[in-house]
Amino acid sequence: MRLRLPGPTEVPEDIANIGSKPMINHRGAEMAELMHNVCEDLKICFGTKNEVHILTASGTGGLEAGIVNHISAEDEVLVITIGIFGNRFLQLVEMVGAKPTVLKYDFGEAADANDVEAALKKNPNIRFVVMTHNETSTGTTNYQIEKIANIAKDNNCLIIVDAVSSLTATPVETDKWGLDVVVSGSQKGWMMPPGLAFISVSEEAWSIQKDCKTPRFYFDLIKHQESLKKGQTPWTPALSLFYQLELALNKLKSEGMDNVIARHATCAEKARNGIKALGFELLAQEGYESNAVTAIKAPEGLDVSTLLKTASEEFDTAFAGGQGSLGGKIFRFGHLGFVTETDIDNGLNVLTKSLEAIGFRN
Ligand code: PLP
Repeated sequence: MRLRLPGPTEVPEDIANIGSKPMINHRGAEMAELMHNVCEDLKICFGTKNEVHILTASGTGGLEAGIVNHISAEDEVLVITIGIFGNRFLQLVEMVGAKPTVLKYDFGEAADANDVEAALKKNPNIRFVVMTHNETSTGTTNYQIEKIANIAKDNNCLIIVDAVSSLTATPVETDKWGLDVVVSGSQKGWMMPPGLAFISVSEEAWSIQKDCKTPRFYFDLIKHQESLKKGQTPWTPALSLFYQLELALNKLKSEGMDNVIARHATCAEKARNGIKALGFELLAQEGYESNAVTAIKAPEGLDVSTLLKTASEEFDTAFAGGQGSLGGKIFRFGHLGFVTETDIDNGLNVLTKSLEAIGFRN
């Protein structure tokens, strides 16, 4: 099955195979070397000099770690949401009993830095800004993130970012933009199976963790920091995924992060052009379309589930539907991770043939 999903994405054969290597002592020298290599390489990808920690969890675990280590009950938080994953971040903020001010946009819209500034000026008690960089559910990217991060800093706020599906597909300059906490997940642009979350933490964010009153154990980053000094993780890591991560990062490094991002931009543009040529409209606001996934509006008369079923059963290709209230209203064409222009051509070809097979014409 070819995966034109926004995750899990396809895994190159050598990365898949290396996952079957024998286990090693996760408290031994081999592990310490592996940890050193992957943590250093992750820093390059994140654009940070700060530590990046690796959690055996999916992306949501990384988001939870980002919240529970920093935000306590009664803290005032600005949550910016432009879709389903922004809403999930809001749920995590509510879970710890914090007081959210919600800046919510319609599906397909991106956040406007002016709105963020107005919200922070209106409530000077807000200490955190929480936002999604690439909203996978709508194929929309918050390209004003650097401006928003500057505004957050000017208003004495820490900024916590879901970069689960943006990292490697679109520039993320953690230190240059002043992002305090940045989270990603292995099954997205990293050419890996699901199961690992990556989280970078700024010095300022570390400095507030000891005062954060929210209970935590598995995701306690201070425990992770202590273990990393010994080249370990506090709990048994998903070792097979760590082998795969080492190889994936070597591949990203040898391609060069700028080239990786340029490849994603070229593939995304090709996908958008092909989809528009088939007569479809995109959900994302112009200028904010994602490098990782394109969300396509389903026109009147198109049964999305029949289309996806046909693509899957007759042409061996998986596209994604809409999530939550977007179900039936959109479908999504993923183009992140191990992806080339040929994959985009194949995906467009399958889409064309599937539409023909179900007798739909725009
Ligand atoms: N945030 C974004 C932007 C995502 O795209 C996803 C996964 O699709 C998540 C969070 C959640 O990650 P996971 O499903 O790995 O827990």
